[in-house]
Amino acid sequence: MPQLTKAKEVQSKIQTVKTIIEPFRIKSVEPIYFNTVQERKEILEKACFNPFLIHANDVLIDLLTDSGTSAMSSQQWAGIMQGDESYAGSPSFYHFEETVQRITGMPFIIPTHQGRASEKILFSILGGKGKYFLSNTLFDTTRANIEYTGAEGIDLICDEGKHPTIPAPFKGNINTKALEKKIAELGAENIPLCIITITNNSGGGQPVSMNNIVETKKICQKNNIPLFLDACRFAENAYFIKLREEGYAEVPVSEIVKELFSYADGCTMSAKKDAFANIGGFLAFHDEKLAQQSRNLLIITEGFPTYGGLAGRDLEAIAIGLNEIMDEHYLQYRIRSIEYLTHKLIAAGVPVMQPAGGHAVYIDAKGFLPHIPVSQYPGQALVGAIYVEGGIRSVEIGSLMFGKYDSTGNLIPAPLELVRLAIPRRVYTQSHIDYVAEVIIEVFQNRNSINGLEITEESPMLRHFTAKLKPVNSD
Ligand SMILES: *Cc1c(COP(=O)(O)O)cnc(C)c1O
Repeated sequence: MPQLTKAKEVQSKIQTVKTIIEPFRIKSVEPIYFNTVQERKEILEKACFNPFLIHANDVLIDLLTDSGTSAMSSQQWAGIMQGDESYAGSPSFYHFEETVQRITGMPFIIPTHQGRASEKILFSILGGKGKYFLSNTLFDTTRANIEYTGAEGIDLICDEGKHPTIPAPFKGNINTKALEKKIAELGAENIPLCIITITNNSGGGQPVSMNNIVETKKICQKNNIPLFLDACRFAENAYFIKLREEGYAEVPVSEIVKELFSYADGCTMSAKKDAFANIGGFLAFHDEKLAQQSRNLLIITEGFPTYGGLAGRDLEAIAIGLNEIMDEHYLQYRIRSIEYLTHKLIAAGVPVMQPAGGHAVYIDAKGFLPHIPVSQYPGQALVGAIYVEGGIRSVEIGSLMFGKYDSTGNLIPAPLELVRLAIPRRVYTQSHIDYVAEVIIEVFQNRNSINGLEITEESPMLRHFTAKLKPVNSD
């Protein structure tokens, strides 16, 4: 099993012995509205124990998602003012296009309003019944867009990625042996794409190694299957490669990124992640025909090809953010701050996924609350307890999100019951993170008082967004 010693070596070379500081100053601030434990108890009840139904002003530290919640830089805000809103041929589009072309090395760039809009277009063209899309792990919107066309998505995560506490360096890798086997079994002609998600969001924000992408590319090439990247966190993944993979310690992140994309035939992107933007996304291709087909759909659902689903100002903010994200001081601070929170929790005995991922800390709710059976949604119960204790909003990634029912109505649980604390980019300081650790450790010390939940209302798809719950035996 690969070890993390390499990362420690590189890290000590890159990092000084001094505290790693936030690589920015604060020019504009937003207030946090404080409330009490008693008030939060009532708010949570009113929100039916679902964090998505809590008003954001009732949250002190919002770790629901890192998507679209980044703080933009003064450069990006200046870009917002300069954004050109011409319907066709806006200079902001050409700035955006040139930037994405330079980073991805791909000639055909299509702006969309967010990642899933890119997915919707791509899979509408390539999906359909009898088609299979193979991946390390498909993100939930990616899977939903694949399945909506009647096609099937198949996750082939590597063995170490299945174990929450094995501290392997690249737990986001695809299992290349399983990939070869699956291709042989299903027939290459039925597989329009392989998609590698970097970093692997649903698998704990764990990175994929360059070597794994090279191996995957070889297999794809041999079988004439295009390789795509779901590139939402390409910069975080590149920094992990610098830290952990042999031969990359001295390579600039921008070069690692270039190499990553050089193996891909195309990519989907949500600019709400590694582009510091509050909205946006894109598709990038080498294949002109696929680009043309995508533009035809784009015009129906998103807009004219030089703005997609975006305003000119958004295109500016994305173009600027894509350059800022590759700043190595930023990436060092980013990756270290997730690790910092993870280590604080480990030191207090809180069961968390290891090693730390790139954008979030994942608590193992089954280990945290062994007295709550999975049928009573321990992850969701923990989300509620963390909110009440400290006003921190997190999200369950477990059986509420991914659970299904068998024919007799019994829950088929998800493989893991996790609570994700996603850290927005450039938003919170070290003292906010210290506070988060204190709150979670306090909840951990009082964990035996936490009760399980039952669902009172749910929708058939993506039920976690709207489900209503109540504590068991609360009638
Ligand atoms: C967020 C995300 C998406 C979807 O992007 P949206 O902008 O939220 O539509 C797709 N894949 C991954 C890995 C993501 O993290």
